[in-house]
Amino acid sequence: MFVQRTLRQAVKAHATVTSASHYSAKNTELVFGKTFSDNMLTVEWEADKGWGTPQIREYGKLHLDPSAVVFHYSFECFEGMKAYKDKDGKTRLFRPDMNMKRFNNSASRIALPRFEDEELAKLIGEFLKVDDRWIPKGRGYSLYLRPTMIGTQESLGVGASNKALIFVIASPVGPYFPSGFNAVSLLATSDKVRAWPGGTGDAKVGGNYAPCIKPQLDANKEGYQQNLWLFGPDHQVTEVGTMNCFVYWKNEKGGKYLLQNELVTPNLDGSILPGVTRDSILALARQWGDFKVSERKFTMSDLVKADKEGRIIEMFGAGTACIVCPIKKIHYDGIDIHIPLDPSDKTSQAGKLTKRINDAIMDIQYGDVEGPKGWSVVV
Ligand SMILES: *Cc1c(COP(=O)(O)O)cnc(C)c1O
Repeated sequence: MFVQRTLRQAVKAHATVTSASHYSAKNTELVFGKTFSDNMLTVEWEADKGWGTPQIREYGKLHLDPSAVVFHYSFECFEGMKAYKDKDGKTRLFRPDMNMKRFNNSASRIALPRFEDEELAKLIGEFLKVDDRWIPKGRGYSLYLRPTMIGTQESLGVGASNKALIFVIASPVGPYFPSGFNAVSLLATSDKVRAWPGGTGDAKVGGNYAPCIKPQLDANKEGYQQNLWLFGPDHQVTEVGTMNCFVYWKNEKGGKYLLQNELVTPNLDGSILPGVTRDSILALARQWGDFKVSERKFTMSDLVKADKEGRIIEMFGAGTACIVCPIKKIHYDGIDIHIPLDPSDKTSQAGKLTKRINDAIMDIQYGDVEGPKGWSVVV
């Protein structure tokens, strides 16, 4: 009932939108997150009234009081997801249920209200119909969606916000690697920490991101693109910049397992952001059954040892923006660890498994291959 009512209202709200057509950006000119579609989806919440009527209205500035708690105490969480055009011109979302669930988990972590998962996905579907012409066509192109929730209570008191706002904005984006993969170099960082068990590293809250920029700038100055975030006295590997981290290697002989190819990523211990891409890679790799797939802790000394013994096969970051991002080098404790790319193709900037994963996920996102049930959702 509620769903039906709000959907009708959202569409009705759209009927009153009179925006000029100014989508002129050519696919080749798209810069990530700089161009926005005509409209945005908004829903307001008040503690005593609950959620208000969702609106699809012209993209524009928000009107907020300077005392709004979002500005002072970081009451903000967000999602990153994409809408894809398939070859029949239909719009598809990739596992939107996972983004909606995570959005609510993030909101709960900072005492913001939850919005019914399925209903928000449907509203986003309506929004996509309205701004349909903003979804760029072609493999690698998509409309990046940024659902956001902020606390808007006007008060300097540190406490739960009694008002909140959801807004969803959309930005057309081109391929992350426009001219083929580009492997990155990482600076392993342990003096600054991105997240810790019991902290908020597993929630997509704004407060996690600003503190990581200074270390990133420091890494950039030394010629590395991203930080490899370490944690704890044993320097366990956690994430790559704002991506989940995967290593494909031959695991240790005589250890817990026999020497075998293994794809490993840190387990979700509360400090790791539970990526949709991460989960999808694990599911696909397990389905393939071609190598061992593990979610477990591993440390820099494990990596250094594997490097010395020539056991590292590939390494990559994973996230919605790029799907996979190959890693070619890690600077740690005064040494450079060189990560192999594709030994059979010297010109390639990505390993064989990295490419296989990228292609498999893209095929599903663009509807060229039927993936597991519920992964590619036509809106
Ligand atoms: C968003 C994000 C990821 C990737 O999540 P996806 O759902 O795969 O896009 C990984 N790490 C961090 C810190 C993130 O913010």
